[in-house]
Amino acid sequence: MQIQDYINAGKIASEVRELARKKYHVGSTLLEICESIEKEIERRGGKCAFPVNTSLNEIAAHYTAEPNDATVVKETDLLKIDLGVQINGYIADTAVTVCYDPSYDYLVQAAESALREAISIMHAGTKSSDVGKTIENTVKQMGGIPIANLSGHSLEQYTIHAGKSVPNIWSIGSFSFQPTEAYACEPFVTTPEGSGFVREGRTRNIFSLATRKRAKDEESNRMIDFIWKRFNMLPFASRWLIPEWDEKTARNLLNGLVQNKIVRSYPILVEANEQRVAQAEHTFIPQENGVIVTTI
Ligand code: MN
Ligand code: MN
Repeated sequence: MQIQDYINAGKIASEVRELARKKYHVGSTLLEICESIEKEIERRGGKCAFPVNTSLNEIAAHYTAEPNDATVVKETDLLKIDLGVQINGYIADTAVTVCYDPSYDYLVQAAESALREAISIMHAGTKSSDVGKTIENTVKQMGGIPIANLSGHSLEQYTIHAGKSVPNIWSIGSFSFQPTEAYACEPFVTTPEGSGFVREGRTRNIFSLATRKRAKDEESNRMIDFIWKRFNMLPFASRWLIPEWDEKTARNLLNGLVQNKIVRSYPILVEANEQRVAQAEHTFIPQENGVIVTTI
């Protein structure tokens, strides 16, 4: 494990997240927000570990801007900005929720508090079920409901979801946090009218290479090579294939790769009762007496 790469990636992620937190996004398009954040990551010498996610309101996760996305942020919106930075494949994953409607501010505060409380009990050897219990209790005390089927995750080089889930509710089955591994913790919170679960939506605009298999035509293989070289097995957006291909060609080639299962596509995740969702996220490495929060 390259601790220094994790820490350097975390510092960039944290700086860029704080810029995003302070900025007033009302009136901006999701495309402008994604592109400006991705540019800030690169300006600092980091690479994007995945396309910036800009999930609005009842969309909990996995929405990124389309190539010509004209969706404008409104004053009544609750916007989750989830960003990832990688250095040599070592990833910092962090998120902030911005909300200009005071009546939903408690969701943001509940997600932030739950994250803080979870981190405060963590060290090498802490059980994941205790983290889930802490998050669930904190969220409920603050008048929200945790999303049960979204969770944090272990991280590995060039792998965002490396197999272990960091739960947001008390759950059976548990592992102990290891000092040799990095993890992301990410409470998601919805309103008391929410179901506490997400379902898959129709939109899919985040992709990743699923295999290093070849396609049948030359141009598809050129796209596979481009994806592998630029993004490795990490997620990417169709807008990242432009201007190497024009929008229509990129879309057609990408659809072909998805149909042939060479590329995987990720659906947006929507609160099952269409209730708003807030999120907070940090990446950390457990230590004997606490944790190194790389994205603090
Ligand atoms: Mn994230
Ligand atoms: Mn994450």
